[in-house]
Amino acid sequence: MIRLCCATGNPAKLREFQDHSPISIETLPDFRRIPPCVEDGDTFEQNAVIKARHYAPYASGLLFADDSGLEVDALGGAPGVHSARFSGPHSTGQANNRLLLEKLRGVANRTARFVCVIALVEGQRLHGVFRGAVAGVILDEPRGSAGFGYDPLFYCPALGLTFGEASAGQKFSLSHRGQALRAMLAAL
Ligand code: IMP
Repeated sequence: MIRLCCATGNPAKLREFQDHSPISIETLPDFRRIPPCVEDGDTFEQNAVIKARHYAPYASGLLFADDSGLEVDALGGAPGVHSARFSGPHSTGQANNRLLLEKLRGVANRTARFVCVIALVEGQRLHGVFRGAVAGVILDEPRGSAGFGYDPLFYCPALGLTFGEASAGQKFSLSHRGQALRAMLAAL
């Protein structure tokens, strides 16, 4: 039986992975006690690999880490790899959403995409890198309270809902994270 460990400190991400994977996904014991990873890559791919290799020594067997974020076309792809800390070192989802709305005030082009890249390692050996992306539009105000981060501002035309309005299953069927997880599982 394949055992998979997910290295993340974000409970919302972890829940999305665990609730929708046919293979059981474990967490790293004592994640909070592990020295934090310095995510200094320029791309989602680089950061996912940096994270997976950083946490690999604390797991036995296969471990994956994801790096994800929002790319807004009118902002030249920002916040991108800086999505979590868009509004500063102590960012919250609400503060990030407020800043995003400020930066897009009066901007007609609202197209954006969520990107998720998963790196799968065993020890320091890289098994694969898996990318998912989903296109959407940034609304003028939040809609819905499900999900996390930028979900309430991200309207997904394929669903006719924001990710904040969608059920967890609806979101994961189309989301960047769902795509990346399915690609990794297919490769196992
Ligand atoms: P990471 O933990 O470095 O990968 O940062 C991911 C950040 O991107 C999160 O803190 C959110 O701000 C944003 N993000 C990534 N995926 C999602 C999502 O599915 N919904 C909403 N925000 C997301």
